[in-house]
Amino acid sequence: REQLMREAIELLAGELGSPVQLSTLIETEPVGFVSPNPFLNMVALFSTDIPSIELLDITEGIERRLGRMKKTLRGGAYSDRPMDIDILLYGDRVIETERLTVPHPRMHERAFVLVPLAEIAPSLVHPVLGKSILELKNELPL
Ligand code: ADP
Ligand code: MG
Repeated sequence: REQLMREAIELLAGELGSPVQLSTLIETEPVGFVSPNPFLNMVALFSTDIPSIELLDITEGIERRLGRMKKTLRGGAYSDRPMDIDILLYGDRVIETERLTVPHPRMHERAFVLVPLAEIAPSLVHPVLGKSILELKNELPL
């Protein structure tokens, strides 16, 4: 899973340039279903002029590439490598289109977003809620 995260960051960096900041990797249990495989989450900050909708094309392309079923060399078995890349914030823009909602509509209620985001941008203000990432994190139910 760590390797897959590195690949995702490298592919993003190929499109957007090197990340300005990266959080640590945080392991969380899946929410809403049971799985033997906990998730790894991280947040990355990039500086770019690429329009938000084109960013979504890029992240979806990388998700497809990393999530593709791949045939392993030995044994010929298939294993899936799922990846979910969400656009949490785009500067202080508020975007409301059919394909894209920014800030991400559920980011403020998810510890797996706010904990790593607070590592790299605690004082960033959520442009809709008007609260800092640290405040939102501290308001999460325990
Ligand atoms: P989730 O990320 O909520 O677990 P998905 O990755 O399957 O679920 O959702 C992808 C859909 O969410 C796409 O169709 C995309 O158009 C839409 N979407 C809306 N806003 C965003 C955003 N800020 N970041 C990523 N996808 C978004
Ligand atoms: Mg997603």
